[in-house]
Amino acid sequence: EIPQPKFKRVMLKISGEALMGDQGYGLHPPTVARIANEVKTVHDMGVEICMVIGGGNIFRGLAGSAQGMERTTADYMGMLATVMNALAMQSALEGLGIFTRVISAIPMDQVCEPYIRRRAVRHLEKKRVCIFAAGTGNPYFTTDTAATLRANEMRCQAIFKGTKVDGVYDKDPMKHDDAERFDTVTYDEVLAQHLNVMDASAIALARDNNLPIIVFSLDEPGGFRGILAGQGTYTRVH
Ligand code: UDP
Repeated sequence: EIPQPKFKRVMLKISGEALMGDQGYGLHPPTVARIANEVKTVHDMGVEICMVIGGGNIFRGLAGSAQGMERTTADYMGMLATVMNALAMQSALEGLGIFTRVISAIPMDQVCEPYIRRRAVRHLEKKRVCIFAAGTGNPYFTTDTAATLRANEMRCQAIFKGTKVDGVYDKDPMKHDDAERFDTVTYDEVLAQHLNVMDASAIALARDNNLPIIVFSLDEPGGFRGILAGQGTYTRVH
């Protein structure tokens, strides 16, 4: 029996590091496959799925510029890293029989589609998973901001931010035993208390468009589907 989803169309944002498994770098194919499976269970419910994957497992602009690289060049390298991750996820999803499109903010026609909003909407209506790559296409932004931007453009009902923990805590739960999880928290509280959800520009963009952010654990098998079916623990930023 397939539970009724609470949402019709969602954005799933994961960091590039979510794809590297226990390695310190790059892509770990079994981990990519595991996440693709999580996406499949939600796709099977009939939910329309957008994805944005970061690039931090391969390259981060800030790290490059800290080593003396020109910042915008380093940021473009970071954006290119997200395209590689998107292609890896596309391959894994297609291995499960799910039609996907990789849609890049920076046109690279031999590799994937350019971003054309109406075309992306049509893919979603046809139940194709749309993986938005190359961030916003602009340096000085992050893939969290890209996820928020695309979620707004695609009229997603929420952003699902998959992390290592099951929500937003008042302090790092990996370091503090007494860290407490919020069931709900407002955008302004996240900003004022510097809570670790997404960067400030992404939070502001979500807030100004009333786009809820659901922070949940990607390590919990079945967690993504569970939350869409109305179960599990998570934090709702609204
Ligand atoms: N990036 C960018 N503009 C964007 C999105 C990303 O310049 O709109 C670059 C930036 O250098 C960033 C890198 O791409 O460090 C990888 O993205 P991000 O750090 O968001 O990846 P994550 O931390 O989610 O793995």
